[in-house]
Amino acid sequence: MKEKVEIECIFCKKGKVNALFYPSILQTSKSRAAGRTITKYYMTKERYEVISDCPNCGKKAKEIQKALQEGKNDPEREKKIMDRLKQQGIMFREIKRKI
Ligand SMILES: [Zn+2]
Repeated sequence: MKEKVEIECIFCKKGKVNALFYPSILQTSKSRAAGRTITKYYMTKERYEVISDCPNCGKKAKEIQKALQEGKNDPEREKKIMDRLKQQGIMFREIKRKI
């Protein structure tokens, strides 16, 4: 369920780096209670895995990945990053579909 996307380098905001996007998916878990099977639904967290270095500023994939993760410590910044990545993810997916 992962797909390859391009995201903006968060250091220089000019280079495009390749990342694997693991979308949020609906999963089920079954549990038994009082002789009945209960199915629970839950969403997995979506995440990005940076797989290429920035061609513009030369930041390593690991550094970009780390910075993305550090951004998650700040809820406001995380929201902004995730919103932006989400928009880009959708945008790039749409472009790929057209091709
Ligand atoms: Zn860069």
